[in-house]
Amino acid sequence: MSVTGNTVKDSLPRKGTGKQKVAEFARIRNVQEQPNSGEFGYENPSRHCATGRDATGGASERPWDAVIVGAGPAGSLAAHQLASRGLRTLLVERSVFPRDKVCGGCVGARAVAQLELLGLGHVARGHGGVPLDGLQICRGSRRVAVPLSGGVAISRRAFDAALVDAAVAAGAVFRSETSATVVPAFADPAASFRQVALRTRGRDATEIAARVVLVADGLSHSSLRQLPAFESRVAQRSRIGLGTVATASTNDYEPGTIYMAVGCTGYVGVVRVEHDRLNVAAAIDGRFLRRCGGPETAIATILQQAQRPVPTVESPTWQGTPPLTRRTDKLADWRLFVLGDAAGYVEPFTGEGIAWALTAATAVAPLAEQACTAWEQRLVTLWHQRYDRLIRRRQRFCRMLTAVLKHPWAASTAWAGLSTLPGLARPLVQQLERF
Ligand SMILES: Cc1cc2nc3c(=O)[nH]c(=O)nc-3n(C[C@H](O)[C@H](O)[C@H](O)COP(=O)(O)OP(=O)(O)OC[C@H]3O[C@@H](n4cnc5c(N)ncnc54)[C@H](O)[C@@H]3O)c2cc1C
Repeated sequence: MSVTGNTVKDSLPRKGTGKQKVAEFARIRNVQEQPNSGEFGYENPSRHCATGRDATGGASERPWDAVIVGAGPAGSLAAHQLASRGLRTLLVERSVFPRDKVCGGCVGARAVAQLELLGLGHVARGHGGVPLDGLQICRGSRRVAVPLSGGVAISRRAFDAALVDAAVAAGAVFRSETSATVVPAFADPAASFRQVALRTRGRDATEIAARVVLVADGLSHSSLRQLPAFESRVAQRSRIGLGTVATASTNDYEPGTIYMAVGCTGYVGVVRVEHDRLNVAAAIDGRFLRRCGGPETAIATILQQAQRPVPTVESPTWQGTPPLTRRTDKLADWRLFVLGDAAGYVEPFTGEGIAWALTAATAVAPLAEQACTAWEQRLVTLWHQRYDRLIRRRQRFCRMLTAVLKHPWAASTAWAGLSTLPGLARPLVQQLERF
């Protein structure tokens, strides 16, 4: 068993082969699943580059309209939206793509509906995603079954790669294995560009300029480390995330159902994704994890407490996250917008993170387009207002639910109510699915 952290592992890009280095200023070819492998094919894409190339891979050649940091759902959809508007868009991702990511692997009905509205339904529904028809919540000997519709279970490796592919198809340029740092701006209001430092393994750092920078670098928030005003505040007793996707020979976890095992030290979600693989993800108290000595024991303990079978997964590679629940107070600055988990997150009990990320990406696009045309300080206020209205209000509901779960007495009472009257769960789920 091995444990890697998104924040640690992804910031240390793996050694690239010569071919990868040549291809680093990459555009992904139509992402195609290779039968049996679950991997995705790439081609040497430099010949498709929108700009010429130089020693830095071409990124510094001329200023970009938009540079987007992070190719999760927030960054990739924002890249898709801006490239579709005809803006020269560069999407930068520090890890080797496609990559795994700690996540429950459930793209909820609301997220799927958002993608469909944008003509991107295939991103979730294609690539072997499994339609979801039920949620089974298990706590002690109690079970609550809730019917679901409209959501899809798919690994983040497949989902995120498909979304990057959509951004590239819309005209964005994608550069992986490249870590970005936003350079502090000593704002000359008349200046038209913001600088971003890019570091690709094996190369000198280079600076590029963009009319607008979107930061969608997830919980790690690493591209803003030189801008302390953007630091996020982590909630007390915030849990951490753990996850793996692996082959498991067990019939105890039916395709189409999300199994959620809830304990007082955390919860574990198990679901079948493409190629019949099992996606296991958990939000767990850090102290409990340390007491258990590792992810396998911690996750097995919570599953056993909820009387769920512990799947034997083949050589799992566990990934971890930094503390989950956090908030970034400052969400915008001169020619800069923050979105997705980088703007704040509430632990994942309701499984809405992807929907929040997609909502933010769609909402920021018109403001970013406006910033490219002419920067105005009021865009900062507009983004704060829009983010509060569209995302933070919804996060409050999730925050309330997780607070109940952490309180033993309140959780037992809520549980007793739900298992006696399971119909009560339906309005909760409807609230989550509301678009
Ligand atoms: C245990 C767990 C279970 C979850 N389950 C679900 C679920 O079932 N359904 C759901 O909807 N949500 C779920 N979520 C939440 C969901 O995973 C996130 O909300 C979602 O991934 C946020 O997307 P994002 O684009 O903001 O960030 P991310 O998906 O984290 O993407 C950020 C990207 O930025 C890259 N990056 C970071 N720093 C840099 C840098 N300096 N330069 C370049 N690139 C950089 C990272 O490598 C990463 O690829 C879960 C989360 C956890 C922890």
